[in-house]
Amino acid sequence: MHDKNQNRDFHHALTVHNDLCIGCTHCMTVCPTQAIRVRNGKAIITANRCVDCGECYKACPVSAIVVEQDDLEMIFKFPVRVILIPSVLIGQFPKKIMTSSIYNALKEIGFTHIYEVENTVDMVLEAGRQYMHEQKERPMISSYCPAIVRLIQVKYPSLIGNIMKVNPPIDMSAMYYREKLKMSGIPEDQIGLFYATPCAAKIAAVKSPVGEIESAVTGVININFLYNRILKFLQRKYTESKPPETDDLLSSRGILWSLTRGEVIHSNGRALAIDGIKNVNEFLENIENEKLDQIDFLELRACDESCAGGILISGNRFLTVERLKNRAEEYKAREDDKNRKLTDGFLNINEHGFLGDIGPRPMAKLDEDFSAALKKLERQRRIMCFLPGFDCGGCGAPDCQTLSEDIVQGNGQISQCIFMQHQMIKQNVLSQSQAVRITDKIWGEGRLEKNCNKLGAEDENN
Ligand code: SF4
Ligand code: SF4
Repeated sequence: MHDKNQNRDFHHALTVHNDLCIGCTHCMTVCPTQAIRVRNGKAIITANRCVDCGECYKACPVSAIVVEQDDLEMIFKFPVRVILIPSVLIGQFPKKIMTSSIYNALKEIGFTHIYEVENTVDMVLEAGRQYMHEQKERPMISSYCPAIVRLIQVKYPSLIGNIMKVNPPIDMSAMYYREKLKMSGIPEDQIGLFYATPCAAKIAAVKSPVGEIESAVTGVININFLYNRILKFLQRKYTESKPPETDDLLSSRGILWSLTRGEVIHSNGRALAIDGIKNVNEFLENIENEKLDQIDFLELRACDESCAGGILISGNRFLTVERLKNRAEEYKAREDDKNRKLTDGFLNINEHGFLGDIGPRPMAKLDEDFSAALKKLERQRRIMCFLPGFDCGGCGAPDCQTLSEDIVQGNGQISQCIFMQHQMIKQNVLSQSQAVRITDKIWGEGRLEKNCNKLGAEDENN
């Protein structure tokens, strides 16, 4: 059950387009893991700190940060093409568009089978209960949001043992559907399972899974791309002949799962749901400092309104939540809503329900060697005595603490700090021209020259 290894490298789904980046630092300011630096007037993402939360993508005023996109054509390599959809795909469409119309449009796009990933939520719930019963660590932290799992790995490694190592519905559904198709006689190499992802973190999780050797998902399709393709079909007044076959294990619990409180409503004991990476960061800091205890379960999601607020969701997140809540109410009225359980035996909780080891990947680790790390820490603290603590970002790093870490790691110099430059010039250890060269390296040549193209800038004398 726990013999699966974690993957070695983090795959990242976000990249900065240098041609578009104007070096405004909006991304650097919002990044929760201090992963961004500015060099030569362009943002650079530090791979070992990034958790693919997408905050930088949302903050960029010129859309210079892009999310990778797999080519839809890749699905046609497989005779059997399954699209695994999260309920938030359906939730983006207005109520008047029937779910069956969306399913039909997906078939027109080229998928042979459609499966809503929340079909396996009851199995995830069962695995979660078993895990909580067996493991005494508290609070247990849900592993549902991959950005949160990575955040804990890089920023709060001491909380790794609190992660509930239960497979999320996407993986559970991929494994289930593959087994089901195989049992119907389809050879495994003919099956492609593609996930419609609402965020960058789930792309990263499929391409470099944590707690699994390999993801059960073949590829990912960005949900905004799919949404636009579906809309095109629907705008052509596409009408369905007969509703396509759906897998009817979806329950009201499944529909609500990816929304905020989707998990905590099933918890016994004291459970909290927190969404938004800033709130989560603050909360985890308190837990790490042992300021909060007696909490049994934490549902932590990186996006506001959880997956309804994913960066690839085109629809308004509040309307998406409303539509899904209405859909869940309809399902609740069904007689068998409470008893929708997988009974065909294609999945086994002990074999498929749990993740393997999840290791720490601390971003603040200064050296592999303990005594070298200690020396670096002492030096870093000494450097902090000199840096002004304004966290102004003028050095191209998000704050003074991060610059001091960069310096001891050999990735920065104290003279990058514009206030230190003044001191150093005064003490004749740095010349004016050296200071200009350092500033140019960070902000790009000519960055400090007059430029009226900026927002709010105008020279009425010209
Ligand atoms: S937000 Fe970041 S990526 Fe976007 S233009 Fe500003 S510095 Fe460049
Ligand atoms: S995706 Fe998140 S963690 Fe990565 S650079 Fe952007 S804001 Fe920072």
